[in-house]
Amino acid sequence: MAQHQFQTEVSRLLHLIIHSLYSNREIFLRELVSNASDALDKLKYLTVADDAYKNISFDPRIDISFNKEGKTLTIADNGIGMNEADLADSLGTIARSGTRSFLDKLALDAKKDSNLIGQFGVGFYSAFMAAESIEVISRKAGENAAWKWTSDGKDGYDIESAQRDTQGSTVILHLTEEGTEYANRWSIEDIIKRYSNHVAFPIYLTYDEKEYDDKGKEKGSVTKTDRINSGTAIWRRAKSELKDEDYNEFYKQLGHDTEEPLFYVHTKAEGTLEYATLFYVPKKAPFDMYNADYKPGVKLYVKRVFITDDDKELMPTWLRFVRGIIDSEDLPLNVSREILQQNKVLLNIRNGSVKKLLGEFKDLADNNKEKWETFVSQYNRPLKEGLYQDFGNREAIQELVRFKSSTVEGWTSFADYASRMKSDQKHLYYITGGDEKTLKASPLLEAYTAKGIEVLIMDDEIDDIVIPSVGRYKEWELKAVNRAGADEELGEKADKAAEKEIKPVIEKIKKALGDRVKDVKLSRRLHDSPSCIVADENDPTMQMQQMLKAMGQMEMPDIKPILEVNGDHPIVAGLRDLEDEERIADVAGVLLDQALLVEGIKVKDPADFVKRLNRLLSR
Ligand code: ADP
Repeated sequence: MAQHQFQTEVSRLLHLIIHSLYSNREIFLRELVSNASDALDKLKYLTVADDAYKNISFDPRIDISFNKEGKTLTIADNGIGMNEADLADSLGTIARSGTRSFLDKLALDAKKDSNLIGQFGVGFYSAFMAAESIEVISRKAGENAAWKWTSDGKDGYDIESAQRDTQGSTVILHLTEEGTEYANRWSIEDIIKRYSNHVAFPIYLTYDEKEYDDKGKEKGSVTKTDRINSGTAIWRRAKSELKDEDYNEFYKQLGHDTEEPLFYVHTKAEGTLEYATLFYVPKKAPFDMYNADYKPGVKLYVKRVFITDDDKELMPTWLRFVRGIIDSEDLPLNVSREILQQNKVLLNIRNGSVKKLLGEFKDLADNNKEKWETFVSQYNRPLKEGLYQDFGNREAIQELVRFKSSTVEGWTSFADYASRMKSDQKHLYYITGGDEKTLKASPLLEAYTAKGIEVLIMDDEIDDIVIPSVGRYKEWELKAVNRAGADEELGEKADKAAEKEIKPVIEKIKKALGDRVKDVKLSRRLHDSPSCIVADENDPTMQMQQMLKAMGQMEMPDIKPILEVNGDHPIVAGLRDLEDEERIADVAGVLLDQALLVEGIKVKDPADFVKRLNRLLSR
């Protein structure tokens, strides 16, 4: 029985990894090498940035060796290392807090899960696909004690004191019967070349080679050590030297993704500022990108030394789905976090990178329909966040966001809309506050449809916040059809005489509804429906209020809607000669509640609504 139990999540993750990734189990080697490389990056950074580490002799390398008879495979690094507490934290728990919800999302469908799990980053535990037990012997840089962590990957692990001459970690896999296929020079070389060729540190493989005498007779064997990766930082190489496969292979290691990226952008800037960037957009949006503790995927290097991957300032938050590398020649190596945040060099690189990515997105939109569709399905929402937050790039982002439309199927851009506008149309119209189906059926659209005016259907929750803040597209104002003041292009309400005639009806409804509404007006937007609600020009819509309440903002005062009625509708017209106050109250109540219901808004008192309806029906 192990001394320490795994955190429950670890056991579940282990189970899932083993069952859903088994057919692709060689990736464990990539994961272990990538951990070793991270450990070297961390120590390299300390040796340049922290005086306490200045005297450590640091000749970074990763060593792989194996023993076929003993059924072991060993991956060693001389990086940062782990002490007793690190071992327990890093290899006994999963620190990322979204893990539980992530695991709950996984159904036990091996094929689908392997993609999801790939995005999550399987890490160290994947080694249990090839090993029946694992030992990690580690010594933390700057400390003297070494520790040994052992586990069979079932219920827990042990930690005991151990011996190691220098800082770093040695991971020894005791291979399963099937895992012995990896105790082999050719398969190791093949896997490293495929997945880890561009790891920036040298990877060495030690193996025995048989020796023969002149007559071809075996005379023994020698132990050899070869370097097996090319080890140049890929982002520093010339584009002309690199193939798609090189970029894709590097991405899989960098992004812990089993899939290829949707696309990549590799830039080298030489001029006042010298830097290289290599950015990738994943095919699937990172599963946790809407979690508060999401870690953005761009790493900062200075002259090829890794500095940080935990700086939210490297890229604007709306681009947090982008993975990749920024490598600057102009920053000092010992740049601190605080300095980074207001550093001009970094700010320039960041601005240049955002522009470059926006250009690339536009190019995709114009020239690659298939990839663009995928992009929109995954990233339309972060683009809208950008529309809201990134004022400087608003115009460019406006050309990229997509919406549904009342007149055409599929995605529509602002530019598409503008190209279809009627020649005398003054504004650009949209409707928010519900799902696509509800919005398309809204009575508010009737008159626009009748007049041939297109309305953008904005069915994403954040549209309600983003679009009003944007206000316009080019010379056109963006007008919400569910607000007062968006109906001026729909023509006159009615002729003066008719208007005069309907006035008493409006008064009757107003009186009956009292403070349930802000106002009652004759509508010009309605064709077939008797009534609709709109929000006053600067008020939040009812849908928005409902959303804010659901988000816990209970304090919000009730802001009342304006009820608009259709003077030509028999229900409304029928009120003209009606004097029975109770009946007027019933009709007015039903006119209001049905207008709310059809917009997907909860009515305050459903029992009252049903009572009134039944009274009217039984007349
Ligand atoms: P991830 O690498 O995604 O964080 P892993 O499960 O692979 O997840 O590793 C968990 C943690 O264990 C790492 O974040 C790191 O702190 C530590 N670790 C793993 N391998 C090493 C190593 N060779 N040297 C130092 N620390 C390591």
